[in-house]
Parts: sequence; C-alpha cells; structure tokens
Amino acid sequence: MKTATPTTAIVAALHDELASVLALMPDEHKQLVGGREFWVGHLHGQEVVAVLSGIGKVAAATTATLLIQRFGVQRIVFTGVAGGLGEGVRVGDVVLARQFLQHDMDASPIFPRHEVPGYGKTRFDADGGLTDALELACERMLQDLPGRLDAATVAAFGLQGPRLHQGLLISGDRFVSTTAESQALQRELPGAQAVEMEGAAFAQVSHDFGVPLAVVRTISDRADDAAHVDFPRFLREVASRYSGAIIEALFKH
Ligand code: SAH
Repeated sequence: MKTATPTTAIVAALHDELASVLALMPDEHKQLVGGREFWVGHLHGQEVVAVLSGIGKVAAATTATLLIQRFGVQRIVFTGVAGGLGEGVRVGDVVLARQFLQHDMDASPIFPRHEVPGYGKTRFDADGGLTDALELACERMLQDLPGRLDAATVAAFGLQGPRLHQGLLISGDRFVSTTAESQALQRELPGAQAVEMEGAAFAQVSHDFGVPLAVVRTISDRADDAAHVDFPRFLREVASRYSGAIIEALFKH
C-alpha cells in the first residue's frame, strides 16, 4: 500500500553513519542487491530505504541507480562526512550542498575543465525544496546536539559552536589529505565549501532520472596533512550522532 508521502532513500557513506539511521527504523528488513544491503522500512511512519552508498563515485552512482530503478525511491537524502575547504568551515560544522561538481573530471581540451561530457555543464543543482527542509533539520540538530555530547569529545574536536554552511560541494575519487592538494582545490574552485567522494555522482544520477536530491555533510577534517589522524574517532563519536539527529529532525516535524 502506498502512503501519502514519497518513499525516501536515506544514504550514508560509512557504517557508523548508517547505524544511527537504522536505529530510528523499527521494522527494517534487508534486501541484498549488487552486493549492497538495502534496508526497507519506516521512519516516523514514512516509507524509507536506507543504504550505504559505498565509497567513491562509481559505487555511489550504482547505489543511486538501484535506489531509483529497483526500489522506486522518489527522493534521496544523503548524510555523510567531508573535508572542509571553505574559509571558516571547521571540524564539527555542517555543510549543506546547493550545488555539486566533480573536481577530478577533466576531458580538456575537448571539453572545458570540470564539464561533464554530454551534459554541457560543470555543476548540478541540489533540489531546492528538499534542501530547505534539510536546512531546518540541520538547524534544529545544531541547537540541540552539541550540548548533549560529552565534554571530552567537545574539547577533543574543538566543537564549540558548530555552524551551518551552504554552497558548492565537490566530489572526486580521492581522499584529500595533504595541505598542498587542499590549497590547490581552494584556488581552483574558490566557492567550494567541502570535499568528499560521492555527492556529485549522486547528483548526476538524480539529474538523469529527475529525482530530488539533498546532501548534508558533517566536517570530519580539513582535507589537510592532519586529515587522517582524527577521522575514525570523529566518525565513531560525533558524525554518527549528527547523521541520526539530522534524519530524526527531518522526519519528525
Ligand atoms: N578509512 C575510511 C574510509 C575513508 S574514505 C573508512 O572508515 O572506511 C572517506 C569518506 O569520507 C568518503 O566517503 C568521503 O566522502 C568522505 N570524506 C571525508 N573527508 C574527506 C576528504 N578529506 N577527502 C575526500 N573525502 C572525504
């Protein structure tokens, strides 16, 4: 039986993030397709399909296609972590994507740098309405959650007063973990708020099928020489809680 609201895909990039979403689903059951575990069930009474995207653009594009073609989702919400690039985008902040770009796309000189061949453009848009709804959810989470994290975690990651940023999210098949590369990306793409490995692939597939997409990323590192150090601990102690709280706020209203 169809409910009034559309079926929503909730996509996470890593296990800890997905776990916090599954904890909100009372009735999920697993379907294995293409080596991926899709969790079909409900969240606050709405039909959802939760899944790990897999890491990188190809894994992400396959997952997005399966969600749309096989599971019939009508909107996609992606929650994950990313490296901060924009000035003032700090660990613990949240970045909401309004646009997407593949920073490693380069078919020049046949096509302009970053243009996706066949699409005539370098940037894909997030869905305005769904992203506005996610913005409200992020604001609610930021008002509430940091105060509930324990003091040691807040101190370890310098999480005082996390902020919400919006704008360009860039994706590529690289974990950006040197200051040199991070600075090169900032020079080349001055508007970029954060870098990760899946968002722009989801955006291209969503564009192909006309399915609304919104992506939120918690900043786990600054994509610099220190990026690898605190990444696992941040995921365990902070990012998974952010993901769960944002999704909870999105569905609860
Ligand atoms: N060792 C990790 C894998 C990390 S890959 C593991 O536990 O499996 C990094 C993931 O986080 C990707 O999904 C990517 O989207 C995101 N990410 C976070 N920081 C990033 C950065 N600095 N550069 C690129 N991707 C980043």
